[in-house]
Order: sequence, then structure tokens, then C-alpha cells
Amino acid sequence: MFKLLRRKISLQLLSFYILFVIPVLVGVITFYLFERNQLQEEAERADLGLAQSIALETETNLGRVSEIANSLATSDEARHLDFGQLQRTFANRAAAHPDISLFFIHDPNGNMLTNYPYNPQTIGQNYAYREYFQEALKRDKPYISDVRDSATLEITVVTVSRRITNEAGQVVGILGINLSLEKLTANLNVVRQKIAKPGVVRIWIVDGAGKSLANTEGVPPQTDLQARIPSLKKVLHGESGNQLTREQDREWLNSYLPVQGSHWAVVVQRPSAVAFASINNFQAGLILALLLLVLGASFFWFMLNRRVIAPLSRLAQATSVVDPDKPEGLVMNSTILAHERQRTDEIGGLVAAFITMEAKIYERFKLIYEKLQEQFQTLEAIMRSMEEGMLLEDPAGKVVYANQRFCQSVGLSADEIIAEDSPEPLLRQRLTHLIEDPEGYNQGVNQALSGGPRLFEFKVKGIYNQSGEFVQLRRDIRFKMFNVRDSNGQLIGRGKIFQDVTHQNEVERVKTNLLAVVSHELRTPLTAIKGYASGLLEPDVAWDDSSQAYCLQQIVGECDRLAELVNSLLEMSQVEAGTLKLNQALYRLDWLVQEALKHSRILRDHQSVNLSLPPGILLKVDGRRFGVVLRNLVENAGKYAGKEALIEVSAHFEPPHATREPGFIVTVQDNGPGIPTHLTERIFERFYQVDGGLERSSSGVGLGLAICRGLVAAHGGWIRAENRTDGSSGALFHIWLPARLVQKAETVEQEGSYLIPSS
Ligand code: ADP
Repeated sequence: MFKLLRRKISLQLLSFYILFVIPVLVGVITFYLFERNQLQEEAERADLGLAQSIALETETNLGRVSEIANSLATSDEARHLDFGQLQRTFANRAAAHPDISLFFIHDPNGNMLTNYPYNPQTIGQNYAYREYFQEALKRDKPYISDVRDSATLEITVVTVSRRITNEAGQVVGILGINLSLEKLTANLNVVRQKIAKPGVVRIWIVDGAGKSLANTEGVPPQTDLQARIPSLKKVLHGESGNQLTREQDREWLNSYLPVQGSHWAVVVQRPSAVAFASINNFQAGLILALLLLVLGASFFWFMLNRRVIAPLSRLAQATSVVDPDKPEGLVMNSTILAHERQRTDEIGGLVAAFITMEAKIYERFKLIYEKLQEQFQTLEAIMRSMEEGMLLEDPAGKVVYANQRFCQSVGLSADEIIAEDSPEPLLRQRLTHLIEDPEGYNQGVNQALSGGPRLFEFKVKGIYNQSGEFVQLRRDIRFKMFNVRDSNGQLIGRGKIFQDVTHQNEVERVKTNLLAVVSHELRTPLTAIKGYASGLLEPDVAWDDSSQAYCLQQIVGECDRLAELVNSLLEMSQVEAGTLKLNQALYRLDWLVQEALKHSRILRDHQSVNLSLPPGILLKVDGRRFGVVLRNLVENAGKYAGKEALIEVSAHFEPPHATREPGFIVTVQDNGPGIPTHLTERIFERFYQVDGGLERSSSGVGLGLAICRGLVAAHGGWIRAENRTDGSSGALFHIWLPARLVQKAETVEQEGSYLIPSS
């Protein structure tokens, strides 16, 4: 809930609003309740005030009548029962008080003695049972009766009675004054008319029994009002107050007040809706205000949400899908903000500013990204083109990068090398498998890590080629380690370089060999020459002719050997420098072979040569150099196959091949020990001689095959060696020449014309 609140500004605003509205509501309700009581009290007080003024007026009237009763009862004519005089006095008073309907006097027994207006029928009748008579007897002041029917006049009246006593204090009679109630009713109507319409205010005057004396409703006197207003009882006990009652489906506010000096009371009735109109109005106003507050705030919240918050969240939504790799995902291209972009207010401005900013950032980002990509690609290209294998590790020793060369050499992908989840990393397993002496290698690495030499060499049994096949060929690898530091000099990783130094080592070896061989091959003939020459020059030795000739022959032979060595070195240097110039012409193949055999030095008695050459083959070659090739091969065959050597020289056309142009192959085969299979290529390297071969003195310098390869290549062909596959031991050397260098003589004459003597 709180998370949602923290995320939604609309909810925050809503909660702020609620936090604001609740105190306002509490305040308003408190104020309302307070005001309501005030207003109610005011309304009640107003009605009580009205009742009071009516009560006062009624009181005044009654007081006046009571005074009349007092003055009449204590007058001489009353004390002496002077009826003549009394009639005159009554007439006077009646004229002054139209609301008095009757004056009368009873004797102490209740018999009617006289009355005014005079009514002879009632004279002598006894009214002792009347309450006003009984009550008047008891006191020495006027008594005001409840409402009652006047038997004499047949109207409803109220009687004010007063006893008449003589000078001796004896009761001589009871004076009665009947008050007609019509005047009272008329008064009430006047009052009511002044303040309100009929029905809105009802005014009642009731007697001590709760019966109506006068009212504004046209209800006949004596109607029992207490049944309608139960609280009227209180009034009759001299209390004043207000009460709400329900009558004719309306609620009424009753305000009541006793009339002093009597048992009477004034009751003012008003519908509570009218009495409390101001309260209701106040209440309605308050509800309206609250409603407006809620509606206004809701509208404000809705508009704020729609115009500000929703666009902002859309902007956030649009921003969250920004992907530099997908320009269509940019805010400026997104349809989410289509509406906001049209706006000219602050939100429109914000979106526009955002879009501009985004465009700039995007451009900048793109530039940086492209630059980075470029740099990365360059770096990657450098790494890829490196001859050396390279590994980068983090300070903890985990591989983070392996270049292509390294991956290829160990036959693993970069992902496999970098994968960290395998408990015994693939790379370690692979290295253990490839390295000849894994323990020595680990020792070397550990020493490098602990500050020892960072450069050492180790041997691998072979490496993987580009097609991912393992090639079993021993190689020398130089290991080099370096630290990678950031600009602050902090160690951020280590680099390991694996350099294949097989060739370098080979060159070194060749150099060493060259020195050894050349010095040996030069010194041997020179020593021999010097020996023979010194012998011949010996003054005290007499040499016979044959011995002299032998010595000289030996000197010439050793000189030839020297010359041949020098020639070979020269030839080799020309081949290597690419400055070899061929002197090509057409030669008969069989002649070339015969010449080679003829000049071969080592052919001995038991050695034999078989020729199996197609007839009439002419080769367009440099005769001398091709002769050197053939001679080298035949001499090698004789040399390595030993005394019983059986040498075979054959030739055939090679039909066109899918990958090769048509060619012609000359093969020299022997029955010697053959060549170790893994060295069939290496024997063509300069100064390479198979270990355990013949003694150096007799086995040459290891240049023969290298020169052969160079010379054949100069003709556009190739040479390679293999072992016999027909069950016997022996080596095979194939010279391949492109077919364009080969012709077939059509006739014997033609053939003859190419019997070119050796140059
Ligand atoms: P070398 O002067 O030692 O003969 P080459 O270059 O002619 O030098 O030959 C290189 C090596 O190839 C020789 O040392 C030898 O071990 C091997 N080799 C050459 N020809 C033959 C052959 N016909 N049979 C066996 N091994 C041979």
C-alpha cells in the first residue's frame, strides 16, 4: 500500500487532500452543531417571547378585571346589597369593558340575587355548586375560573368571582364577572396575523385544566389541548418551556408559558420546519458547501491527473522503452506522447525539452557507441590477427578474454574458455592434455605469478588446426606473462601470451647446424687436401707415379667436394633470395635421367637402377638444374638404401584433377629404410637431417632436398616424399611438373633432335 502510495503522485495528492478535508469536515461539523444549538435556542426563545407578550397582555386584562371585581366587591352598594345602585355601576362598567358579558351577585348560599344585563329568570336560582362560588368563598381576593359554559347567556365564559363582606367581616354575597372569550380570540388572531400566515403559527390560551380558552385555529373553547400537547402539564404547574411534537404528519415546536395570577397558560405552536428554517438553511448550505468542496476537489484532482500526472507518467513510460539500438523506441518517435507534443503549456514544453535532450543524448551516445565499437573492433582485429595466443585474466585468475588464435590452438571456443561454472575448467583439462609436461608448465606459471621469471618455454604434443582437428606435431611454445594495470596503476588483471617459437627455434637450430656442418664439411676436404699436398711436397719421400697420381686424384676429388658444397650453398642462397634465373629448353627425359645417373658419385657395384620411363617425353626445363634435382634424389636413394640399393626411376602423366591442373610426375623409388612418416615434410628443410641417419661425413649437409624443392618450385612444380606402400621398405620421391612443361615427341627424328648434350 505504502509502496503504491510512494509510486503514485495522484494517490499522494489524494491523501493530502483527505488529510486537509478531514480537519475541515470536523471543524465544519463542530461549528454546525454549535450553531445549530444556538439557532435552535434562538428560535425557541423567539416563540417563548411571543408567548410571553401574549401572556402579559392576557395577564393585564385579567388583572384589570380582577381590579374591577375588587373595587365592586368592596363598594358600599355591594356591601349593602344596594341592587339599584349596583345596576347602575354594572351598566357603567359594562359600557367601558365590552369583553365583560355579565355582572352578577349571589347570596352566601349561592342564590342569584341580581345580575346585569338583568335576567329575571335566573334570579333566585342557586349556583352554590359552581366552582367559582366555592373558591370565592374561601379567599378574600378575586378568583379566576376555568373556562365554562354560561347557563345564563349560553356562551363560553371565564368567571372572575370575589366575595363581598360587610364591615363586620361577614360574607354577604359573591360577586361574579363573566368574561366573554371572543375578545381574547380576536386579540390572538390580530397577533398571529401580524407575524405569520394561518397555519404557520398557532397561538392558544388554555385554562388550568388544559382546555382552550382562545386560539387562532377556530377550535371551540373548552377543547382539550393537553391531549395534543402532553408537556402542557408542566405549564399547568407554572413552568415554561418548549417541546417538539408530531401532529398531522408535521413536527411542531411548542413554546409555553404560564399566565401569572391565574392557572392559565399561553402556547405558541410553529412547525419545526418553519421555526428551525434558518437551521435547515444553514445545514443545507453547509452540505452544499461540502458537496462543492468534494466535487471541486475531485474535479481538480481529475484535471490534475489528466493534464499533469498522466502525461508525466506517460513521459516516464516512453522514457523507459528508450533503446539506443532501436531508434524507433525513442521518446521522440513514440506515439505514447502524441497528444502531449501538441500542447503549448508547461507539459508540452517539458516533453519538447525532453525530446531535444533525448535527441542530443542519443546523438552523443551513438557517436560514443560508434567510436567505442570502432575501437573495440580495431582492438579485436589486432587481437585476432595476433600470431600469438593470448589470454586475459582478472586478478582472481578467471579468464575474461581469449583471442582467436588461442581458442583455435586449444580447440575450444571463447565461451567454453570463459565459462566459469565448471568446477574443473575445460581449459585446464585441455592444457593438461596438450602440454607434454603439465607439471613443469604449472610450476613455471606459479613462479611467474609469485614474482619469478615471467618467460619460459614448454612443449606441446600438438595443436588444433583451423578446421578444429588435432595435429600431432610437437611445438615449442614460449609463455610470457604481463600485468594489466589501470591508469592509477591498480592491478586489474594479467595477460598471458603463448607464442609458437617452433620456427624460431628451428631457425636457430639451422643456424647452429649451418655453422657445424659448414665448418665440418669445409674442414674435412681441406684437411685431406692439405694432407695429400703436404705428403707430395715431403722432400725426403720419393713418390712413385701411381702414388702421386692417387694423391692428386684425392686432392681433385676433395676439391670437387668443396666446389659442390659451395655450389650447393650458392644455389640455396639463390633459391632463398628468389633470384634464381632458369634457362629453360626442351630436354629428353631419358637423357636427363641417364646424365644424372652418370654423374652420381655414390653408385656402387651392387646397386642397380631400373628405368621405367614413357618414351619420347620432352621436358621444358633448366637442364642443369633439373639434372641437379634428379641427381640429388638418385644419390640419396643410393646413399640411404645402402650397398644393395635397388633404385627405380619412373614417370607418368597425371590426369587432370579437380583441384590441380594436369601434370607429369617423375618418381625416384628405393628399397632403403624409408623416412619416418612425421618427417616426410621436414626433410625438405635446410640442414635437416633425420636423427640416427648415416654418419655426417657420408650423409652430406642436409641441403640436397631443400635445393631440390626450391628448384622444382622455380619450375612451377612441387616435390614430396612418402614411404612405399607395397609392403617393402623404401622411400618414394615424386617430382610434379605442370603438364605445360611436357611434350611428347611425335617421331623418332624429332626425338633425336633433342639429344642435347649436357651443358
Ligand atoms: P643429406 O645431405 O643429409 O642427404 P638431404 O637434404 O639430401 O641431405 O636429405 C635430408 C635427409 O633426408 C637425409 O639426411 C636423410 O635422413 C633423409 N633422406 C633423404 N633421402 C632419403 C632416402 N632415399 N631414404 C631415406 N632417407 C632419406
